[in-house]
Amino acid sequence: SSPLLEVKNLKKYFKTPKGMLHAVDDVSFTIDRGRTLGVVGESGCGKSTTGRAILRIVEPTEGEILFDGEDIRSLGKDQMRRMRTRMQIIFQDPFSSLNPRKTVSETIAEPLKLNGIITDKGKRMERVAEIMEIVGLAERLYNAYPHELDGGRRQRIGIARALALNPQFIVCDEPVSALDVSIQAQILNLMDELQEKMGLTYMFITHDLSVVHYFADDIAVMYLGRLIEKAPAKELFRNPVHPYTQALLSAIPVPSIHNQRKRILLKGEITSPVDPKPGCRFASRCPYASSRCHSEEPQLKEIAPGHFNACFLNE
Ligand code: SF4
Ligand code: MG
Repeated sequence: SSPLLEVKNLKKYFKTPKGMLHAVDDVSFTIDRGRTLGVVGESGCGKSTTGRAILRIVEPTEGEILFDGEDIRSLGKDQMRRMRTRMQIIFQDPFSSLNPRKTVSETIAEPLKLNGIITDKGKRMERVAEIMEIVGLAERLYNAYPHELDGGRRQRIGIARALALNPQFIVCDEPVSALDVSIQAQILNLMDELQEKMGLTYMFITHDLSVVHYFADDIAVMYLGRLIEKAPAKELFRNPVHPYTQALLSAIPVPSIHNQRKRILLKGEITSPVDPKPGCRFASRCPYASSRCHSEEPQLKEIAPGHFNACFLNE
């Protein structure tokens, strides 16, 4: 299948009093239709900024974003607003983005109203009832307020709002990180079902590798603004190549005995993302760093079909 999203050499820099913060630094990847790309890394690695830059919630500094073949960055305001109906985002904490004075049904109806998708109020409310059923929100919650609901139901509202406009693509930014593990599974199952049913394509951002283990088709690992490894999910778990990915994976319990790895503890300080020094950004914490790693930046290279890595060790 052809890619729905192509990101080429994406950069997002922020001016700070100390210098230029390289939040996203020359990141390229594609996501095929109906697939899920998991994007993982520690906080501050640029994964959320990447998701927001793709939707132009923050304006990219450089790079190309092609959505269904269309160059997103060349779109004017009105064109971009129309494009947004096809590209949505779900946040970690839906509560903070929900208006406490609006009921569940009003909240879900809002994007339909604002985008002029359904102008007739009666028809709009029919559609809201339909979406509530799809995301598993009981009819009796129609007139409930967000504060009356638990975290899982609030996230279902977040998902319903994103789905209301019938999008093709959803950036899921830590959508289950604030939820209890049992609720996490319910929400992930729901998102999986919705993907099947509606042919959705996901970019799933998380700091938790165990969440994307089964959920994502491909996984991209980011470190300090750089994409350092990308592979099909199974391959990444079976055969992590980058020293940083190996350390990340060693920290989570893996159900197969073949995969039991010794915990790799990273020492050394994290390099500053402000005006980063030349060289590999992981060099300050990498157990294998050589002098070359401190002067030259490793580029992402395909080391096996579909498996990309940015490290001098495996070239
Ligand atoms: Fe470690 Fe060097 Fe590879 Fe960077 S390029 S991950 S410092 S071995
Ligand atoms: Mg899937």
